[in-house]
Amino acid sequence: MVERTHSESRKLLGRLRDAMAEDSAGQARLDKITRLIASSMGTEVCSIYLFRDPETLELCATEGLKAGAVHQTRLRMGEGLVGRVAKSSDVVNTADAPAERGFRFMPETGEEIYASFCGVPIQRLGEKLGVLVVQSKEARNFSSDEVYALEVVAMVLAEMTELGAFVGEGAALSPLHQQPISIPGGTAQEGAAEGHVWLHEPRVVVANPIAEDPEVELKRLKDAIETLRVGVDGMLAGAAGGDKEQLQVLEAYRMFANSKGWLRRMEQDIAQGLSAEAAVEKEQSIARTRMSKANDAYLRDRLHDLDDLSNRLLRILTGQGKDTGAEMPDDPILVARNIGPAELLEYDRKLKGIVLEEGSVGSHAAIVARALAIPLVIHVKRITTEALNGDHIMVDGDQGIVHLRPDDSVSTAFRDKIAMRANAQERYASIRDKPAESLDGRRIKLQMNAGLMADLPSLAGSGAEGVGLFRTELQFLIRNQMPKRTELAELYAHVMDQAGDKQVVFRTLDIGSDKVLPYMAPQDEPNPALGWRAIRVGLDKPGVLRMQLQALLRAAKGRPLKVMFPFIAQYDEFKAARAEMDKAVARELRLGHAIPSQLDVGSMLETPSLAFAPQKFFEEVSFISIGGNDLKQFFFAADRENERVRRRYDTLNVSFLTFIEGIANRCRSTDTPLSFCGEDAGRPIEAICFAAMGIPTLSMRPASIGPVKSLIRRTNLVELKEVIVDARERGEQSVRPAVMEYLRQQGRD
Ligand code: PEP
Ligand code: MG
Repeated sequence: MVERTHSESRKLLGRLRDAMAEDSAGQARLDKITRLIASSMGTEVCSIYLFRDPETLELCATEGLKAGAVHQTRLRMGEGLVGRVAKSSDVVNTADAPAERGFRFMPETGEEIYASFCGVPIQRLGEKLGVLVVQSKEARNFSSDEVYALEVVAMVLAEMTELGAFVGEGAALSPLHQQPISIPGGTAQEGAAEGHVWLHEPRVVVANPIAEDPEVELKRLKDAIETLRVGVDGMLAGAAGGDKEQLQVLEAYRMFANSKGWLRRMEQDIAQGLSAEAAVEKEQSIARTRMSKANDAYLRDRLHDLDDLSNRLLRILTGQGKDTGAEMPDDPILVARNIGPAELLEYDRKLKGIVLEEGSVGSHAAIVARALAIPLVIHVKRITTEALNGDHIMVDGDQGIVHLRPDDSVSTAFRDKIAMRANAQERYASIRDKPAESLDGRRIKLQMNAGLMADLPSLAGSGAEGVGLFRTELQFLIRNQMPKRTELAELYAHVMDQAGDKQVVFRTLDIGSDKVLPYMAPQDEPNPALGWRAIRVGLDKPGVLRMQLQALLRAAKGRPLKVMFPFIAQYDEFKAARAEMDKAVARELRLGHAIPSQLDVGSMLETPSLAFAPQKFFEEVSFISIGGNDLKQFFFAADRENERVRRRYDTLNVSFLTFIEGIANRCRSTDTPLSFCGEDAGRPIEAICFAAMGIPTLSMRPASIGPVKSLIRRTNLVELKEVIVDARERGEQSVRPAVMEYLRQQGRD
């Protein structure tokens, strides 16, 4: 019986393939396909509904329902039985459709005479394309073999839709890949960019979903799985003794590669008439749907592994590697599920924007994107399935939204926005060489944050007065092995050469928490942000710190040098780190090397504890830089990486500003130079408030210098301080409303 069903199914697929090969238009093809399916399944009705837009299904072809309903009958996602199939991605199989939950009677179709209904989703890799329905007068449930055969047909339809087989007649017949969509995500780097999609990992195209000879396909599948297994075993052998998490993933790969269930399901698909690659993709589609529904993080991860493995298998079967021969557009917007910092840097400065399906604000890729000032939007659901190489795309890094294949109205609005930005940039360029002097005559020093050689050209372009924070860990993060002292010395020397007369503040290695070096054993810590990180690692295992200090001293070649230590929480830690520096200097002297003409050793203030350190600390330290990102997270006990809480507390909260004011007062009393180098320094409103509270130097992303300087030059900081103090006295929680109102009155918002 099963063999008979298989051969029936194969026959149907064969006929479908012939129908596809005919040189007919999209609608004629669809009509023919519904006819073929109805006759093969022995049902009176077969209908194909496709998405017109992501929320609306349209009846696009039918055998058996009234012809006049075609392109007229529409359903919302979730509406009626068809909408239910689309929404849930589950099959609806019933002998009594009108009695079924959610049934909706549509008189124009004449479907009231049909009792039984079986609908299966048409989807490709988790992307909903439509619904395939058969109906019959006889009240009966469809057998599991029949449902299965319908699913296989739906899979082939999905492939055909993807290949554009039905393009042409009405919006619903064009594949979704031609329709405009806007997908919201999260902001990781502000800015706006327009360009064309460049897929980091191009999708495999399955050109022949239907196969003639199941035996041949079975052999192809088995051979490919064997190649896959050998590959995974090879990766496992290579990773032995390495990173625990990577090993776990590979073990999961091996488990799937040897999974009998997975193989059996694909064998069944092939027996029904699918080609080996279509069978892999069918199972991948099912896994994707489950992935989107899974609440359990562990299960989601495993389904994710299966997805990756299926991609590998598809590449083996089709011979399509990463390099598809496609040419990178001139204005590439990178679209990827996720990307590592080294891979991102390989693209150099070519990219105009980045869109990630996953990613996180604190990820290394985000750090690099920020350093390169490339707009980055993360958590953009399904972008890797929606976007095709070369698609027109607009990335709004400010709003955290992506417009794919935008229509004219979206394009125009977006271009206006870019033009407005460009105008603003021009205005900023005109004040580039002017000081950031407030209306009451205070000079605020504006510096930039950096971490890559690629950042240095911005020093001249932005008008920054120096580099207030050079994050040295980026050089460590983007490599596969620990850099050597000579390499680092060369790099730091190059940074100083490029900076010329402007000063650079090098921060020693800040790793741990979210910044894990690929070549260092990850620490299994219950709470990494509060764990073994930054200077704590440097002091406990001083080898790397010493190497880095030597590299910095050598790089200076007798020039002045400024170095600061991250995450100092108490005076003793600074003393110990400073002692390392003194030892390194003594060693250089012993070896007869030049030492810096002036050496300033500073500390970051990133934990509230340090603000209350003994007076002696403030006297001894050469300078202090407030790491506002960390300081704020510890001040409010709100994780900077956690989307749920990271914006919960306003930087302009009276408590935080009062705290900042206290630090500024202490530094003034000991004449200790003070700066603020967290992200908030680059936000104009925050920046003027910090300046009003007594912070003399701000260090920020180069792109923020213009907007911040522009506002400082139009602000009276004495008056602003009064506004802040008044709001504080009134008992307001945040001074933001009062500050905004003041700026509005002054006509400066
Ligand atoms: C900070 O914490 O504000 C800071 C500048 O350091 P990072 O963002 O690198 O932790
Ligand atoms: Mg920090």
